[in-house]
Amino acid sequence: MSKNLTTRAEDYSKWYNELVVKADLAENSGVRGCMVIKPYGYAIWEKMQAELDKKFKETGHQNAYFPLFIPKSYFSKEASHVDGFAKECAVVTHYRLKTAEDGSIEVDPEAKLEEELIVRPTSETIIWDTYRKWIQSYRDLPILVNQWANVVRWEMRTRLFLRTAEFLWQEGHTAHATQQEAIAEAEQMMNVYADFAENFMAIPVVKGVKTANERFAGALETYCIEALMQDGKALQAGTSHFLGQNFAKAFDVKFTNQEGKQDYVWATSWGVSTRLMGALVMTHSDDNGLVLPPNLAPIQVVIVPIYKGDDQLAAISEEVNKLVAKLRKLNISVKYDDRTTQKPGWKFNEYELKGVPLRVAIGPNDLANGTFEVARRDTLTKEVVAAADVVTYLQDKLDEIQANLFNKALDYRNSHITEVNTFEEFKDVLDNKGGFVAAHWDGTPETEEKIKELTKATIRCIALDRVEELGTCVLTGAPSAGRVLFARAY
Ligand code: AMP
Repeated sequence: MSKNLTTRAEDYSKWYNELVVKADLAENSGVRGCMVIKPYGYAIWEKMQAELDKKFKETGHQNAYFPLFIPKSYFSKEASHVDGFAKECAVVTHYRLKTAEDGSIEVDPEAKLEEELIVRPTSETIIWDTYRKWIQSYRDLPILVNQWANVVRWEMRTRLFLRTAEFLWQEGHTAHATQQEAIAEAEQMMNVYADFAENFMAIPVVKGVKTANERFAGALETYCIEALMQDGKALQAGTSHFLGQNFAKAFDVKFTNQEGKQDYVWATSWGVSTRLMGALVMTHSDDNGLVLPPNLAPIQVVIVPIYKGDDQLAAISEEVNKLVAKLRKLNISVKYDDRTTQKPGWKFNEYELKGVPLRVAIGPNDLANGTFEVARRDTLTKEVVAAADVVTYLQDKLDEIQANLFNKALDYRNSHITEVNTFEEFKDVLDNKGGFVAAHWDGTPETEEKIKELTKATIRCIALDRVEELGTCVLTGAPSAGRVLFARAY
């Protein structure tokens, strides 16, 4: 099978689009901006979901489900929220079709909804309308709820996984008695996301807060994790919002506190989406196809027999079946591809394209010598391993690959954070090197806007670990309290 992938150097964006389709992760659908996630892609998403869900439950959250439709009047209750989302809303106006005289199907004008329904772009409004009924006293708090769902944001420029009109995500919505507790929750969830991205997906991230311009509509603070893709563009990989009492006030959610006084409830919300699939592809993959960290690989080890005739295959299969049983006992997901319809070379190509971390081949010579040939997807290197050692070897290599992918991505990321002190340098780094540009900024939305206009770079975040140092703004020369990270972003 020929891969014929565009290389990253030729055209990074084309490489990405082709790879997502060729590796069977997803494809475009008949609906503008909406994708079909194929079984192989969905299997990876399920692994992400399972790990995140475990982490949410370990931190005390429970899953629930709220309606897909939000009455328009709910939506208008929080002014900045509606402002932020109005331009991207899909609206349901009718509830019935009818057959016209010419036999075509049309919307029945008689079946107009009294109140239009918004297809949720995010669920704060419907959830806070519900929380009013759940919360009376401090004893009802905190509420720590997560929902796994799809949402719709009518995005104009869409890309498979990275930005789609409908996407899958989880959205946590929590309610607290105090400001301090809500802030701690928002920070905790940012940390959960960072831990997940780095230790499960092998994607290094910068933790930080957004500037007012980039904040979630309705939030007082947006915490985020920002990742860097191989082409030097940044990607917002997850967000966690401290919402203050904005939604409680909009939906009149009050509680009696320990002193017997009425107060508004404090809120957070946090989410990651199928965008993480795009982050995964863009962080690790190469010109031969996907490279998957073992933690996320639907198949961690694939075994391919090389044989002539049924007898040889039978002898090889006997050896392989023993190995498969041992690996399964260790919870390693293994596939023995003994299909007779495809040649070994075709299979090698296929698993390389699909990013399977380890490929084991066994032919007649291996059988005679008691060995296996093991190939690593990340380094594209091969080694011959004695059958007696192969289980431990494979287990070790999976750990090594997971660590290697993270370290490689971390080296790349770290070598692409560049401090600049003049606007000339700023533009030069963006154009010729890419990555994060650490620069002084005067703290005003106007300067941030102006820089975006001039360079297409936005402030990705104010990193939590930034060093406080006085400086002068890279554009205006006005005083600055510390560097912020700019980048061109997806
Ligand atoms: P937000 O509610 O805007 O803070 O976004 C929550 C999460 O969804 C973030 O991790 C975003 O990166 C992600 N996200 C936002 N818009 C899209 C989109 N159109 N497609 C995929 N993911 C998105």
